[in-house]
Parts: sequence; C-alpha cells; structure tokens
Amino acid sequence: MSNLAAACFACRRPLAVAEQLYTEAGEIVCQSCTTRAQVLEGHRKSAGMVRTLAYGNPLLALASFVYDPFLTLSIGAIGNGLFVLRRLVSDVQRGEHLSRSPSQKLAASVGLVLGVLSLVTKLLH
Ligand SMILES: [Zn+2]
Repeated sequence: MSNLAAACFACRRPLAVAEQLYTEAGEIVCQSCTTRAQVLEGHRKSAGMVRTLAYGNPLLALASFVYDPFLTLSIGAIGNGLFVLRRLVSDVQRGEHLSRSPSQKLAASVGLVLGVLSLVTKLLH
C-alpha cells in the first residue's frame, strides 16, 4: 500500500502518489478538489466584480449628469444596471448570494434609473 501513501485533505480520498497534488499551504489534495476550489474561487472573484459594478453604478449615473461624452456614461450606467440585475437573478436561481443581493440590486437599480433619466434629459435637449 505504499503507493496509497496519503489522502486528500479535503475529501479524505486515498490517493496514489501520481494523483497527489499540493495546495499553496502544502496540503495534499486530489484533482477534483483542486478543480472545485478553482471554480469556487472564480465565482467569488466574479461576485466581487458584480458587487463593484452594482455599488459603483449610482456614482457612474450621477457623474453622467455632469460629464457624458457621447452618452457613454449614461449608457454605461444603464448597461451595468441591466448586467448586475440579470446576474443577481441568475445567482438567486442557483441559490447563491441571497443575503447580499438586495442592496446590490437596489444600487444597480438606482444607477439604472438615474442613467435612463440622464440619457432622456440629454436626448430631449
Ligand atoms: Zn479531494
């Protein structure tokens, strides 16, 4: 049994030497746990990106009232708002981020509405 020298620290599956990978902390881990950790890390990063977009959106929309070259800021605020709302809906459908989404949804919606107001104001002028 010398070729089953260690088990994955996460799922406890015994691993042959050739299957053993190492985490950054030096723990022995299997390929499927490594893949799962990478997927989770990707979700976490992308949730952080959505959060930044959501909370930045009202600021972007407000800025567009002051400075909006070629309507890029107002249209950007509308696009960000739609992106965040769609993303939060799909997260909720997967059962993720339920606790954080209401305030992000509110921020994205405020930015979206302000962006529309800003755009309409300029198009009417
Ligand atoms: Zn494992």
